[in-house]
Amino acid sequence: MARLEEWSSSEVAVVAPKGARAAKAEQNSAYGSLRSFFLSPFKVLNFDLRPQTFNVMKRLLLTLLAGTLAAPLLVAQQTPGQVRPRPAEGREPEFKPPTIREYKPKSQLVTPQHPVPRAKFAVIDIHSHQPTPISPAEFDRVMKGMEANNLQILVNLSGSSGDRLRQGADALRASKYKDRMVLFANVNFSNVAPGFGAKAARQLDLDLKAGAMGLKIFKDLGMFDRKADGSRLQVDDPELDAIWETCARNNVPVLIHIAEPAAFFEPLDYSNERWLELSLYPDRRHQDGVRFEQLITERNNMIRKHPNTKFILAHFGWHGNDLARAGKLLDQNPNVYYDVAAVLYDFGRQPKAAHEFFIKYQDRILFGKDSYQPDEYPSYWRVFETNDEYFDYYRDYHAFWKLYGIGLPDQVLKKLYHGNALRLTPGLSRSAFTD
Ligand SMILES: [Zn+2]
Repeated sequence: MARLEEWSSSEVAVVAPKGARAAKAEQNSAYGSLRSFFLSPFKVLNFDLRPQTFNVMKRLLLTLLAGTLAAPLLVAQQTPGQVRPRPAEGREPEFKPPTIREYKPKSQLVTPQHPVPRAKFAVIDIHSHQPTPISPAEFDRVMKGMEANNLQILVNLSGSSGDRLRQGADALRASKYKDRMVLFANVNFSNVAPGFGAKAARQLDLDLKAGAMGLKIFKDLGMFDRKADGSRLQVDDPELDAIWETCARNNVPVLIHIAEPAAFFEPLDYSNERWLELSLYPDRRHQDGVRFEQLITERNNMIRKHPNTKFILAHFGWHGNDLARAGKLLDQNPNVYYDVAAVLYDFGRQPKAAHEFFIKYQDRILFGKDSYQPDEYPSYWRVFETNDEYFDYYRDYHAFWKLYGIGLPDQVLKKLYHGNALRLTPGLSRSAFTD
């Protein structure tokens, strides 16, 4: 033990306590595990040299060993994406570690705070879900959140089709909040067989005449919808061509949600950045079945085949985590746009790249939120409008990281908040927008 203590103090400037605490100190000091590893051969060989002379040799040997043996050993433990094991590797916390849900460290960072409770300019939420038809009482409730956030128009993507869509459109026309909510129609993709596309296109024409201002496609297409013969309905199935062409002919956009975040398709291990969310929500796990890249390929085939149809890809097409890829898709397809619904965590964790992207593609991005929670919108306003640093996201199971503002200029904010939506969706009322 004397040898250990001496080495401790000279090598790592740790004065080891005497007696029973010494063993613990060895284990707890920064190089504890390495030290016992290197010293074991000397113990085994039972060297009987005086510490003073032995120390010099030992240092030399250890330096050599550290360079030749230890470094490759440490590197070998690393797998791509992992950080180098810290010297304290192997130590155990003295206190019972918190669970993933218990650990909520309070940041000590003191930095200017600029919460934005209300958007700077009037907003069109191109990606909302509301009851169809909506009751006057429910609309009253929704309006409170809209007024608080400066939301001028909600696009209710759950507009349905046929009778229900007509009832929904009638309820909105009769409402005292006329022009504050509009509907997008939906297509029911069950039992797709020859002739389905033409029939669905006729129904869509009727729905658009009844007041729908666009078409919304749910994520079931590609992932869950089956054809009459039992096979998976591919996003680029030619039977659906008539539907996309109907939207082009009527000059209305298709807001389409295909696939899910790539992480939802990846193994459910502790390196999955959505582990907690996937553990909480079984229906978000896509460990089997069609893969992410397959769905994206089908979606892109379909987009290319219908250049006159305007496609708004919900959730940034799930490319918010890879802006180079997101930009390439826009460059190659002038008919493609993105909404920002439910992927704020991806912009807020790369503020510099996101800022540049939103400037470069300022005519191609639309504001959308998805689930209607009035108290969650201010997180969006803050990311888009400020340069605040290191603030909380609104859902801890979505993102294990803090957000940063991307500080967009006014002209870009106006396009994001309403300008692009007005240009793409001719049916929307322009009366509230002065620019
Ligand atoms: Zn949605």
